[in-house]
Parts: sequence; structure tokens; C-alpha cells
Amino acid sequence: MKPAAVNVVFQSESFRDHEQVVFVRDKATGLRAIIAIHDSTLGPAMGGTRMWPYETEAAALRDALRLSHGMTYKSAMAGLDLGGGKAVIIGDARKDKTPELLTAYASYVDRLCGHFITGEDVGMTVADMDLMAKVTPHIRGTSSGHVGDPSPHTALGVFRGIEAAVRHKLGRNGLGGLKVCIQGLGNVGMALAELLHAAGAVLVVADIREGAVEQARERFGATSIAADVAHTAEVDVFAPCALGGGLNGRTIPEMRASIVAGSANNQLESEGDGELLRARQILYAPDYVINAGGVISIVHDTDGFSFEAMRGDVVRIGETLSEIFERASREGVATSIIADRMAEERLASA
Ligand code: NAD
Repeated sequence: MKPAAVNVVFQSESFRDHEQVVFVRDKATGLRAIIAIHDSTLGPAMGGTRMWPYETEAAALRDALRLSHGMTYKSAMAGLDLGGGKAVIIGDARKDKTPELLTAYASYVDRLCGHFITGEDVGMTVADMDLMAKVTPHIRGTSSGHVGDPSPHTALGVFRGIEAAVRHKLGRNGLGGLKVCIQGLGNVGMALAELLHAAGAVLVVADIREGAVEQARERFGATSIAADVAHTAEVDVFAPCALGGGLNGRTIPEMRASIVAGSANNQLESEGDGELLRARQILYAPDYVINAGGVISIVHDTDGFSFEAMRGDVVRIGETLSEIFERASREGVATSIIADRMAEERLASA
């Protein structure tokens, strides 16, 4: 009898020529993790580790592969000499994250000998990085560095990206009176809310954590919208800062914003969704370009650290986005396609 075909990894649509995918299992701690290394043309693969209670292993693998692929493009567009990688730990960070589990995970990162460098992502904290850094040197974003939590730098990049999008789409400088809906008030979303509020923007917010929404109401005079319909908010800018996949064939036709610019990774559920946004004349700031502030800050976190140099590179995200918007308008194609092309041009010339 012919063995059944196994199409879960190499032939999955998310695989996209990954160099290496490591499946980690540590029986003693219950650890199940996937480390995906997409491309190391430009340097060692860098990408955060996410802890999330995926419903299926296939969903965890898909997330790791898509995020890792995005990191290759993110580093290429940010001009960094880094490749793309990402890891996911399957589990609920609030219940399953133990020091033993993190220590075991870090030992597997160590076995990759610097081919994969990691830091925080959803479900992980600076304290977790501190613990893992005791096991392996290939950890970034610890409290002993100059940078610590990268989220405020990610938020600054998104803020500058929103400014660039508003200039291109609405022909105006400054964000005073601009209506922005932030979906997800976590580390990045809340820091972004603070920057936008200080710039005079009017905020509508959504989160599944009522406490975060309450905080935004009190601190920024924000109004709120239910999390499942946040994409329908009647605003100028929709800023997805929760999880990915929120822009798709169901949500895009319901959107009323003319700009999408937020920090979430993998915002487009599928590649064609970039074109769907363009067809509706919604300007999309490609996720891996606008959210590169965190990885830029981590790369700057060396002995010769300069805050000004780091900030300069984060702020440049706005200029890169303006270039993408102009090229997309000229060539009449989706901004997501132009960003991919620009990243691939850099990879090809490396
Ligand atoms: P976080 O875990 O601190 O925040 C996520 C927030 O989204 C939480 O408040 C959560 O309650 C909320 N949320 C979850 N599901 C939601 C839903 N359906 N509707 C509304 N809110 C929902 O994560 P973060 O570090 O702020 O990152 C946010 C996004 O930005 C993620 O996609 C992450 O991968 C991406 N990102 C983060 C950084 C960084 O520096 N932290 C860098 C690049 C990209």
C-alpha cells in the first residue's frame, strides 16, 4: 500500500522556502515549540518568540512560518543585516509559562548556536528574556540592555507611519482632529494611543480586556467600540495592534477608514487582500515596514548604543513608507506588492 502523502510542511502554502524549521518537545516541562528560520541571506535569523494557546498544531506552524517569512522582509526593508526567523511556544502564557519551561526553551535556542536570535513577542515579557538570557547569549530585549521593552519604539515607528500615510492619502500634515481606531491596547497599542493623543488625534479603541479600554477612556478621553467590529469604525485611520489576519474578504468590504496603519504582524489574511484594499481605495501601510521599530531598537542595543541614532532609524520608517506609497500610486499596484518587491530587490542584490 502506498503511504499517505504528508503535505503539512514543505508543501504548505506558508512554507515559502524556509531554510530550517525546528520542532521542539521537552517532555519534563511539557514544552512544545516551533522555531522557524526563513532566510539568512542578510545575516542570522532574528525574530521574537510568541506564546499562544493555538487550537491546533497546524495553526501554530502556520503562524510561525508566516511570521518568520515576514521577519525576512522586515529586516530587508529596515536595512538591517539580519535574516528572518520566529518561534512559537504552544500554550497559555498566563497558565502554562513556568521558569522551567522557559529555561528548557532557551536551551533549544542555544543549540542553534546564534543562527537564531530571539526576543519578546505576544505572551512574553522582559523578565522572561532575562531568565532565558541566563541560558543562552542569543536573547535580546533583556532589562540589562539599553533598550529593554521594544514596544515604545515600535509604537513610535507606527506613529511616524501614520503621519506619512495621512500626508499621502489626505494631503495634510499633523494629526490634530484625525480620527483613529486602535484595535488592541497592549504594549504597542497603548503606547501608540499616548503618542496620538499628544498629537491631538481623536481615539476610538477596542480590546478584549475591558481594563485596558477603561484606561484609554480615562487617560486619552477615548471612546470604545466592540472588539469584533472594530474594523467598521467610522474613522480616518484603522490601526490593527492586536493579532494578525484581521484584514480579509469579510472585513475589508465593511471598513470605513481610508488608511490602515498599525503594528500587528501578518495583517493581511492572504496575499490578495492587499489588492482588495487598493480596490477600495484604502491606503495600506505594509505591516512589516511600519512595525519595524522594535527590531531596529534591538539591533541598536550594543555597547556603542546611541539613543539618537536608534531614534533616527525608527523615524526613517515614515520615509520608507512614503516611498512605497508613491511607487504604488505610480505603478498602480497594491502597497503590499511594492513592499515585497523592494525587499526582494535588496535580498537579490545581497
Ligand atoms: P500585547 O500582547 O501586549 O497586546 C495585544 C493586545 O491585543 C492585548 O491587549 C489583547 O488583549 C488585545 N487583543 C487580542 N485579541 C484582540 C481582539 N480580537 N480585539 C481587540 N484586542 C485584542 O502585544 P504587543 O506587543 O502590543 O503587540 C501587538 C501586535 O504588534 C502583535 O501582532 C505583535 O506581533 C505586533 N508587533 C509587536 C512589536 C513589539 O515591539 N511589541 C513589534 C512588532 C510587531
